[in-house]
Amino acid sequence: MHSLPFCNFQDFALFYKHAPLKQRKIHRCTICNYSTPKTTNLNTHMMMHTGQKPFKCIHCPKSFTTKSNLKQHYLVHLRMK
Ligand SMILES: [Zn+2]
Ligand SMILES: [Zn+2]
Repeated sequence: MHSLPFCNFQDFALFYKHAPLKQRKIHRCTICNYSTPKTTNLNTHMMMHTGQKPFKCIHCPKSFTTKSNLKQHYLVHLRMK
């Protein structure tokens, strides 16, 4: 078995499928050993460490790290109506 510099197989597959040789660059987290070929993935990941939550709910004071988490949260408000 080889040890791969990726957290999961999906990232690994994506890396080799889409990136031309020159662009095969891995973005690494400086805090843990997470690495990903996508900058956006790393940005989202870093928010987890810094506790940043840029996606704010317009209905209540809650905020979330990712857009999908916020979307999921909106369902709570929809159900209450
Ligand atoms: Zn990390
Ligand atoms: Zn809310």
